[in-house]
Amino acid sequence: MSLQATRGMAGGKTRRASTFLSLCVLVQTACMEPDPTRSVATEYARLWPSGSTEICAGTPSFVDGQLFRIANELGVALPSTPKLDMYFGPEATSDVCRSLVSAHDRVNGCTSGLGTSVEVAAADYFVIHEFVHAVRATGDQRAPAVFEEGIAELLAGAPGFPAVIDRPRGTPWLGPEQLLQVPNSQFTGEYYPPAASFMSWLWDSFGRKSVSGFLEELTHDDQPGAAASFRTHFGISLAEAEQMWRDDPSPPQTYGTPCIEGRTYTLDDNPLILTGSLDCESDDVLGVGLGMDVLPMCLELERNTRVRVEVDADAGALQLLLREQCQPATSATPQSYQDKRIEAGESVELDMAGCRWRVLFGTDDQQPTPYRIALSNANP
Ligand SMILES: [Zn+2]
Repeated sequence: MSLQATRGMAGGKTRRASTFLSLCVLVQTACMEPDPTRSVATEYARLWPSGSTEICAGTPSFVDGQLFRIANELGVALPSTPKLDMYFGPEATSDVCRSLVSAHDRVNGCTSGLGTSVEVAAADYFVIHEFVHAVRATGDQRAPAVFEEGIAELLAGAPGFPAVIDRPRGTPWLGPEQLLQVPNSQFTGEYYPPAASFMSWLWDSFGRKSVSGFLEELTHDDQPGAAASFRTHFGISLAEAEQMWRDDPSPPQTYGTPCIEGRTYTLDDNPLILTGSLDCESDDVLGVGLGMDVLPMCLELERNTRVRVEVDADAGALQLLLREQCQPATSATPQSYQDKRIEAGESVELDMAGCRWRVLFGTDDQQPTPYRIALSNANP
């Protein structure tokens, strides 16, 4: 289950494990009375909107793509039948996850059941963290929270929806041995960053197959033998692994490339024009009711550039985020590295560092609007 900030479009702000507070608790019953005529079936799931909202046209293939990717990473065979029931929207989470709402103000998702009776509730389509629990639960897999939540944070990183996970580098985080002693019901937000960080180190050190094999061996969320299983599987104790993790000098690691293939642009065509319809019925638009977003894009700038940005639309906002692969430069101002947000109707000039930028465009409701976004070098 997730406790996350208000909706940021398309996964919005760059998600760091340290700020993405989520909590997973397996709940027993779903008290929904969904309308089957409004659900959408995909290869692996049945998507249920809540209230009067719609599942936007790009969402089914996005969800299926994520389920397939996660299952592939974990080596879980995902059946086409029965389909995984996924309930979307804040009403879904407040209902399906109601046992936790009293304890936490913002509940972004939860997963219940095992095997063929798994149900997922997620406030928005980009709560990929819950998809990870769902895939694992479908494969009858369930692990103590330090491993379960850690792997969910890691594999929530997807193309276009990256997850940045910190390494300890001197932080006073609890280590995996202590985290293993925390019961699932008490595994609150502050434990997620160290859990994600440890699983990130484990994943990068031992590889996907080894880590997924270990997770497969764990079948309970409260498993007294988990530490012994760890030693048998990896050949080192959890305490030894913890020390190696703490000693790792690596910078934060990104999981899931920020860019989707075929959606990365440059200013070689000056101006760069992005046009379309931000319409729930468009195939490149994602949403489940809280708003809708065009599939994430990227902009590569070879050098520091003053960029003129015009957003012609009735609603929505353009965001330029997550600079990476920056060219070494001495002349870029601190402001040129900052995140940018340009509202519909605005025309601005911005100093942008020579980096690859993540480009998001979306709205907070489902009113359709055509858009024309022009980006150009203001000093060609
Ligand atoms: Zn979780």
